[in-house]
Amino acid sequence: MIGNEPEVDTALLRGFRYGCRPGCGLCCFAQPRADPEERRELLRIVPTAEFVGSGGVSYLRAHADGGACGLLEDLRCSAHGVRPHPCQEFPIHVHVGTRLQASLVLSCPGVDLDSLLDSAPYAGRPPAVGLDSELASVERRVGPTLGRRLQDASRRRGRIVRALEREGRWVEEEDVRRTLRSKIPTPAAVDYPVDDPPSAEDGLELLPIYFDGRPGPVALAGGMGGWEAVELRTSGGIERHLGAVPPPSSPPPLSPPAEKLLTGYLRYFLERDLLLASVLPRMSELPEGTVTDWVEDELRSIGAIVVSRAVVRAKVAGAREGPLTASAVADGIRATDQDLMDVGTWGDRL
Ligand code: SF4
Ligand code: SF4
Repeated sequence: MIGNEPEVDTALLRGFRYGCRPGCGLCCFAQPRADPEERRELLRIVPTAEFVGSGGVSYLRAHADGGACGLLEDLRCSAHGVRPHPCQEFPIHVHVGTRLQASLVLSCPGVDLDSLLDSAPYAGRPPAVGLDSELASVERRVGPTLGRRLQDASRRRGRIVRALEREGRWVEEEDVRRTLRSKIPTPAAVDYPVDDPPSAEDGLELLPIYFDGRPGPVALAGGMGGWEAVELRTSGGIERHLGAVPPPSSPPPLSPPAEKLLTGYLRYFLERDLLLASVLPRMSELPEGTVTDWVEDELRSIGAIVVSRAVVRAKVAGAREGPLTASAVADGIRATDQDLMDVGTWGDRL
């Protein structure tokens, strides 16, 4: 904290390289929030821009039925110079908990995942490459008013910690990490099959999406015959059905490089404050055990979701039988990470 201004911990950005992929548009299948000033500026440049929201909170309207933000044209932003802050900052995500912690949304195909293979501590790695303007936008929003939100998150965490201490189940976050870093838990038979994604009938906007090189993202939907992959239209609705396959009901074999990438991803997730901050508020649903046991279970279950989505993506794309490759696991991470970060925590997001 400098004076009254909190600082953003950017250790989890270190070592990564980023460059937006032309023709992707994945992050624009969203309704980004616009501050009042951003809304005024957007309307000055694009008078037809439409917003939704109430109580002073505005979001750019997206096309109905899983479509993209109304300002996306030919997979390019038609208001790039005045796009609101979530768009300026993506793929950086800042969790407002007991501190401000930045990490990367690894669903973005512009983020190089090689850094996940390095087992060195993040804090000692070289600075991130390609994220200067995104970080500058984050820094512009850090101010004294965030102090209140940090205090609120600390209060919510404090209530949970005290309840767990009374039951003898609390373990400090850094001790949980120290224990699990030395042996990152990977998914086991008990973690399969994983829960299905929502079905297409529940609403296309609820489905996990990923970029696979085609114009328009692909969404994964749960269904009777397995998980279905569907290509979405910018204007909303389904462009085409790409196939459905059942998710694995037991752990599939992984090649050694695939194991290494999965472990690296789970190591990254363990370092996110968002992990403990999302698991512990659910403590009334959790089984007997300590915080370390729950986080271990959660990491194994995250790993099983990544692997299951990797298997489905690979099969829909026509992969032959054989151990899952590192490239397939990377596809599983892309199809999962954003989804797993859209969760409630004892904190907030910037
Ligand atoms: S998801 Fe990443 S690569 Fe794709 S448009 Fe957004 S920032 Fe660019
Ligand atoms: S404002 Fe532009 S960058 Fe942001 S979601 Fe809409 S089209 Fe994408």
